[in-house]
Amino acid sequence: MTPTAYFHSIGRKTSNPVPANIYGWHESTVERILENQQYTGCTVNGKSTTVSYKVHKVIENPKKEYQIIPNTQEAIIDENVWLRVQELRKNKRRPTKTNRKSLFSGLVFCADCKSKLHFCAAKSLKRNQEFFRCANYKDGRGNCTIHFIRDVVLEMIVKEAVAGLADFVRCYESVFLYMQKQKCGEFQKKRQQKLKLSIESSRKRIADLDKLFSRIYEDNVIGKLSDERYARMAEEYESEQKELLEKVKEEEKQLSEIEQKSVDMRLLLQGLREFTDMKELTPTIVNKLIRRIEVHNPEKKHARKSVKVDIYFTAVGMVSLPDEQEIRRMMEQIRSASLLPKQLTA
Ligand SMILES: [Zn+2]
Repeated sequence: MTPTAYFHSIGRKTSNPVPANIYGWHESTVERILENQQYTGCTVNGKSTTVSYKVHKVIENPKKEYQIIPNTQEAIIDENVWLRVQELRKNKRRPTKTNRKSLFSGLVFCADCKSKLHFCAAKSLKRNQEFFRCANYKDGRGNCTIHFIRDVVLEMIVKEAVAGLADFVRCYESVFLYMQKQKCGEFQKKRQQKLKLSIESSRKRIADLDKLFSRIYEDNVIGKLSDERYARMAEEYESEQKELLEKVKEEEKQLSEIEQKSVDMRLLLQGLREFTDMKELTPTIVNKLIRRIEVHNPEKKHARKSVKVDIYFTAVGMVSLPDEQEIRRMMEQIRSASLLPKQLTA
């Protein structure tokens, strides 16, 4: 029986309606159970890296950082069975096409020379061998180093970063929005107001200049204004108008950039929610969430290669998530700001 059907049968209220098939477990529920190590009877601590998560980071296997305390509760699934399931799930088949594209095609750049990274996928390459390298690397003859990264490794790094941000925003959306607002929000709002006013007054002056122009023209025709004086005034009006038109154009551009930012923020939050639901990176989710990825040249550290990847998210760019102490401090600030009377905060 599904949990909802079970709760219903014992008379407990449920948020979802009872499904038509009371034994039809949803695929994602089964997936979550299969991936939850706690069913083997241990307690997993440090599983949520949300709080200390930093996007700016070096590859490592985060699962190794889990503190696993075995046998803290009665096992529902035998540990070996659990491990086997994880192995099987890891090798899920992907549809293979010879004309493969990376999820990140077009988004990946060299952190040093800023060229695009070239995606290399040939028929002879297995899926896990497909890689990116700097387009400006010419087997040692070019001006840049290789900046090699396998597509599957990049996917793992990006997925981890997205999962960290999604977790953080899911737990602390108000703190996340407060952080962004502190970074630019208040300032942007004032700037937006100022730009709107300035554009409005420029437009009015442009219309007035048109009127003035036709008036001096008439005055000149009926002989009230000398040709010499008319020419000088006309030139002045014209240059003022030209300047104003350019100013309006520039300010409208700045205004639309600010407006774009709030659209981008909505896109980011939507993408993060979709990721939380699907637990997968799809092309749509990647396009909503990520603006740019920069890959550094691999470095050899402690006999193993590691690569640094900078991820620039939509609307917010590179994100470094605050630690627990900073979160608490910001929550305090949000709370005291909301207690202030409206006039003081406006
Ligand atoms: Zn390069």
